[in-house]
Amino acid sequence: MPDTPPAPAPGPLPAAVAAAQPKPASDALPELVVFDKVTKSFGEGADARVAIQDVSFVVHDVPNVGEMIAIVGPSGCGKSTVLRIIAGLRPHFPPTRGQIKLFGKPIDRPGADRGMVDQKYSLMPHLTVVDNIAFGLMLRGVSRKERRDRACEWAKKVGLEGAEDKYPSELSGGMQQRVAIAATLILEPKVLLMDEPFGALDPKIRMQMQELLVQLWKEQQATVFIVTHSVEEAIYLGDRIFRMAANPGRLVEILRAPRPSVSPEVMRKQPWLGELTQELLRRLETDAPALGELPGIEKWH
Ligand code: ADP
Ligand code: MG
Repeated sequence: MPDTPPAPAPGPLPAAVAAAQPKPASDALPELVVFDKVTKSFGEGADARVAIQDVSFVVHDVPNVGEMIAIVGPSGCGKSTVLRIIAGLRPHFPPTRGQIKLFGKPIDRPGADRGMVDQKYSLMPHLTVVDNIAFGLMLRGVSRKERRDRACEWAKKVGLEGAEDKYPSELSGGMQQRVAIAATLILEPKVLLMDEPFGALDPKIRMQMQELLVQLWKEQQATVFIVTHSVEEAIYLGDRIFRMAANPGRLVEILRAPRPSVSPEVMRKQPWLGELTQELLRRLETDAPALGELPGIEKWH
């Protein structure tokens, strides 16, 4: 094996971030999502490809809050695989090895307790904004009047007042994404799974969507997993940031960050955010601990 230089030691944490490192959630709290050495391989024998290996973490059900977990890592490191396993979606689900639990029970299929939003928005082109938002309620047998009322309320919450009867093709990318988010949140999932949801939006709309997400998340108290390519977005949104590395896809680090208390625009100007962004980018580029070396949050102290 070729000699590889030792990974550079991680730099220090900006003071504001170090101060935000709380004690890990009490073990007494109920476990909401548990991954215990979860491995997923695609294909058989010599063609088998490991998507994620031995991924372990616990997310507790913190009363009246809900945690926001941001997942970052290079392309192909298994971020979508982690989300789709939680969602119970094939072919990523079921994993090849390891245990996953949701509310203390093994996951066996998709369920209304989990909602997924991805980059493709998956709106129905022949349905209006309100009908798209109300679609899941219709499947649940909610009456026409009630679902229209609730969908209109949600259209308003996500800033689509006046666009209720438009079709997806008449909307901008940002508006379509608002419809997709409303269509998922109206079902009040306990766990919200977002796979690069803002990837296709321009920076200004993206910041508005981040702020909207934080506001809706505080209202709904859901636990959110959000995959993002933007390190800054991960730090702004995440209570914890899961950093993954590729080949094999694995979880290498967990960082706690302060909760967003101001808009992304204001938060961006705070020096610690820039410092932490630089440090996390550096770690993504240079620091890929081997499997089994997950340092946990201690590394950031
Ligand atoms: P990320 O979201 O971090 O880019 P993915 O979770 O999509 O990564 O993929 C992780 C690995 O699993 C990649 O090597 C990818 O090629 C492989 N993979 C993902 N989905 C499938 C699939 N349906 N069939 C075969 N391999 C897959
Ligand atoms: Mg992906």
